[in-house]
Amino acid sequence: MDYEYEVLIIGAGLSGLAAGIRLAHFGRRVCILEKQVRAGGLNSWYPFQGRILDVGLHAVTNYVPRSVKSAPLARILRQLRLSHDDLRLCPQRISRIIFPEKELSFTNDFQLLVQEIADKFPSQVDGFLKLTNSLADYAELSSPGREMVSARKVLKQFLSDPLLIEMLLCPIMFYGNCREDDMDFVQFSILFRSIFTEGFARPKLGMRQLIQLLVDKYQESGGELRYGCQVHKLIINQGRVAEVHLANGRIMQAKVIISTVGLPETRSLCSFWPAEAKEPKPGEIAFVESILMLDCLPSQSLGFETTILFYNDTERFVYRKPNGLIDSLSGVICCPNNYQEDEQMSTEGLVRLTHLANFDLWSRLDQDEYRRQKEHCLRESVEKAERFIRGLGRHIVACDTFTPRTIQRFTARQKGAVYGTPDKLPDGRTEIKNLYVCGTDQGLVGIVGALLSGITVANRWVLYGA
Ligand SMILES: Cc1cc2nc3c(=O)[nH]c(=O)nc-3n(C[C@H](O)[C@H](O)[C@H](O)COP(=O)(O)OP(=O)(O)OC[C@H]3O[C@@H](n4cnc5c(N)ncnc54)[C@H](O)[C@@H]3O)c2cc1C
Repeated sequence: MDYEYEVLIIGAGLSGLAAGIRLAHFGRRVCILEKQVRAGGLNSWYPFQGRILDVGLHAVTNYVPRSVKSAPLARILRQLRLSHDDLRLCPQRISRIIFPEKELSFTNDFQLLVQEIADKFPSQVDGFLKLTNSLADYAELSSPGREMVSARKVLKQFLSDPLLIEMLLCPIMFYGNCREDDMDFVQFSILFRSIFTEGFARPKLGMRQLIQLLVDKYQESGGELRYGCQVHKLIINQGRVAEVHLANGRIMQAKVIISTVGLPETRSLCSFWPAEAKEPKPGEIAFVESILMLDCLPSQSLGFETTILFYNDTERFVYRKPNGLIDSLSGVICCPNNYQEDEQMSTEGLVRLTHLANFDLWSRLDQDEYRRQKEHCLRESVEKAERFIRGLGRHIVACDTFTPRTIQRFTARQKGAVYGTPDKLPDGRTEIKNLYVCGTDQGLVGIVGALLSGITVANRWVLYGA
């Protein structure tokens, strides 16, 4: 059969764009269908009262300097034909993990974290070093039939101080764990490297810059991108996607379909789901985030130099859907001004406050109550942050808060579950022959994870056609 396109990609988030670049670069006829009016998905940008705000950017993880050619970031950039300079990455200054009893600092120099652990947990440092030598590899993520190994159990084999275990889990879980309470050790390993061994950076002009680079590269290579183009149904016939029905009534066909919208979401688009395939459940991990715009720079006027601060007010870090709308006993405070820049891009301060949130409770509120609760949560969140940034509340000039309900509305992620379902598809293959899943639900989360996922699915199932 002669198809108009060889590959249709559903979603122009980071994984869809990365897959598209690979395929277009090798001359495949590929089209990305994106329901929104711009690309980027969970990590896009939007205009807000005369400013451009990033939807979700705290940090690009896996940062290594340009000279380190063997690291995942360098390999991803090579695959996408982008240079390190194109990204104009500004590394972090310093990040902190603060628990009631102890505090650990880390930078993009891993030795600082080792030294911090030697100083604050002297009996643990040998175990910590052994742990870092025992981390699992990317390759293990996609090994077929792999069972989840509890990260908590593995950590206990190396570390005897429960407080250190909780402190290490806190940033790692916040930045990529789709499960409640525990996580997969392979996921833990990948995130450990991307956060602690490598590190944080920020594209100088935010996500818009990175997304534009990806879109330009894709289109220059001959890929087609259609905005405002929502996939409504995938018609399955004889175990294959036979037709892609769009919300505007158009019907498209392709040899291969790559979906980046999430596994449960992809399943709900399918007209038929094989009985032998598992019914994927949506994840429960969701967040509320407030973006505060300030009349001053936090480092200059408020003495706050930290790039990202992870705090937790209880002995054990509780990472699960909270009983209330949000869990302000823990949180992440990110200050985009506190990256190392040769010149400050803005005189306006920016602080992002993030907490675990309960989608089910948010989704039940009527419009007035929803607005009231957003304001209430903002006040609670600012109050908590003021312990670390004194006077924060007095300097807020504008603010925008989003909830899991916002995420579900804009991206279609069920329950606003940013890190997707725990029922991952590690190699991206579904039970439907020509349908692949890439991005978050392949098991690679975050900006760098999404890019890597797009590359691996395109390479493995289309270009080097296994
Ligand atoms: C608030 C927040 C903060 C974050 N912070 C960071 C961070 O600091 N660092 C980091 O590394 N990661 C961060 N992440 C995670 C990161 O954004 C994601 O892991 C990554 O962007 C996921 O990319 P993806 O391509 O897998 O999926 P998505 O970004 O979800 O892309 C899917 C795309 O599909 C489109 N779509 C959905 N349904 C349809 C349909 N039916 N038809 C057509 N198109 C459709 C959506 O509009 C979307 O554009 C954050 C996420 C959020 C929400």
